[in-house]
Amino acid sequence: MFEKLTKSIYIDGEWRAVNEQQTDTVYNPATLEPITKVANGGKKEAEEAIKAAAKAFPPWSEMPGRKRSHILYKASELMTEDAERLGRILTSEQGKPLKEAIGEVKGAAAFLLWYAEEAARAYGEWLPSSAQSKRMLVIPKPVGVVGAITPWNFPSSMITRKLGPALAAGCTVVLKPSEETPLSAVEIIKVFEKAGMPKGVVNMVTGDAQQIGNAMLTNKEVRLITFTGSTAVGKYLMRESSEHVKKLSLELGGHAPSIVFKDADIDKAAKLVLASKFRNSGQTCICTNRLFVHESIADKFTETLKEKVGKMKVGSGMEDDTELGPLINKAASEKVHSHMEDAVEKGAKVVSGGGYWEGNLNGHFYNPTILSNIDDDMKIMNEETFGPIIPIQTFHDENEVIQKANDTDYGLAAYIFTENTNQAIRASEKLDYGIVGINDVFPATPEAPFGGIKQSGIGKEGGHHGMAEFLEEKYVSIGIG
Ligand code: NAP
Repeated sequence: MFEKLTKSIYIDGEWRAVNEQQTDTVYNPATLEPITKVANGGKKEAEEAIKAAAKAFPPWSEMPGRKRSHILYKASELMTEDAERLGRILTSEQGKPLKEAIGEVKGAAAFLLWYAEEAARAYGEWLPSSAQSKRMLVIPKPVGVVGAITPWNFPSSMITRKLGPALAAGCTVVLKPSEETPLSAVEIIKVFEKAGMPKGVVNMVTGDAQQIGNAMLTNKEVRLITFTGSTAVGKYLMRESSEHVKKLSLELGGHAPSIVFKDADIDKAAKLVLASKFRNSGQTCICTNRLFVHESIADKFTETLKEKVGKMKVGSGMEDDTELGPLINKAASEKVHSHMEDAVEKGAKVVSGGGYWEGNLNGHFYNPTILSNIDDDMKIMNEETFGPIIPIQTFHDENEVIQKANDTDYGLAAYIFTENTNQAIRASEKLDYGIVGINDVFPATPEAPFGGIKQSGIGKEGGHHGMAEFLEEKYVSIGIG
C-alpha cells in the first residue's frame, strides 16, 4: 500500500522530494513493522510554508464564501467516497479497529461538509446608532494565517475539525500533524488538492515538532495557533505566543468522570461506559478515566461490565472482529502499566484483565482492565491514563460525587447515567466541564461546540462556535450627512 518514501511536505501547491538523509519512519503499532518513511522538515520548511500561506491569504480571504464552500463540499465528498481506503491507512499507522477508523474518516468528512455550509454564513451585524448622523457595522474578518498542530489519536478528524472552519472563514493554513500518524494527513492534503484548493491555501510540514512549532510562534504572519494535544505542550504554546499576541485555540487533555446513579439503566449504562472507556483503546481525550458507581448498584454494575469486558477481542485493527487495538507506542503502554501497578500497590483489586496482552503480535497491547477498591490518592484518579483501564469507585450521595468529579484541573468531558431527569439536569449543571453527556458518550459532532474549560483548553471546535475562532470582528463607524 505504501512506497518506501512518502512525500509529506506540501508547500505552495507542490509536494517536496524526500531527502533520504532526513526522514522519520512510520511504524504499524500492531506489528511494529516499518510502513514507510516521511520527510523530517524543520524551521526552513515551516518558514517557507508560512510565506506561501501569507501570499495566498488575500485572494482566498477575499473570495466569496460560497466559492470557498464549493471546494470544501468537493473535499468532503471525495473523503466520504474514499473512506474505506483512508480508514485502512489510518489503522495501519494508528492501530484502531478498521470499523472505528472508517467511522473517523466519515466523521472527518462530515466536519468539512458542515463548514462548507458555514462558509457562506459568516454574518456581520448592523448596530442601531444613538446618533442620527452615524451608521455602525460589525464585519467578520478571517484572522489570517493559521498554524494547526494535531495529535495522533484521531489523525483524520482532528485535522478537519481545524482546517474545515479555518478555510471556511477565509484563513490559510500551515499544518503540522503528529510524527506518529502523518499518512492520514498526507491523504487529507491530497483530497484538498483534488478538490481544487488554490496553491498556498493549505500547506503541510512534517518533522521536528519543536522547530516547526517555533517557526509558527516566532513568525508574525501566523495570527492564530490552533492546537490539539497535551496540556503541557498547550501551556508552552500559550506562553510563547504572547510575544506577538497571537490568538490561540487549545484542545488539551481530559480526565473524564462517569457517574452511574442508582436510577441508571444498568445494562445500557454499562454498554455506554464500555464504549466510552475502550474506544480507541482508551486513547481518547474525552474517554472515561474515572468511574463512580452508586453503592447500591455497584456489585451488579461491576458484574455486568465485567461480563462485557471479558468478551472484548484484542488484536490487530485490521481483523474484522477486533474491538481493542494496540496502544500507540512503548511509552504509552508503560504509562498505562505504571497506573495499574500504582493502583494495585495501593490496594486496588483487579476485577478483570490487568497487564500486557500476550498475543501473537509485537505491538504494545494492553488487556482491557477493570479495577475496584480505588482510593483518591492513586495516580489513575489524578492523571490522564490514556489507556484501557477503568477504575471503579463507589459513592453514597450526589453532592459527594459531584465534588469528587470536579476535583481536578481538567474540565473537558463528564458523563452521567440515570433515568431520573431531575437528577440528570441538576448534576449536569453542577459539573465543571465543557461537555456533559447524559446517557450519551459520543458528544463530538460537527454541529456542536466541543471544547474544554479549566486546563483542558480554550475555545471550541464544531458548530458556528468553531468558525468564530477563526474570525475577528471589525467595527466600522460611518459618519453621514
Ligand atoms: P502532544 O505530545 O502534546 O502532541 C500533540 C502535537 O503537538 C503533535 O503534533 C506533536 O508533534 C506536537 N508537539 C509536541 N511538542 C511540541 C512543541 N514543543 N511545539 C509544537 N508542537 C509540539 O500530545 P499527544 O500525545 O500527541 O496527544 C495526546 C494528548 O492530546 C492527550 O492529552 C489528549 O487528551 C489530548 N487530546 C485532546 C483533545 C481535545 O479535543 N481536547 C483531542 C485529542 C487529544 P509530534 O507528535 O511530532 O511530537
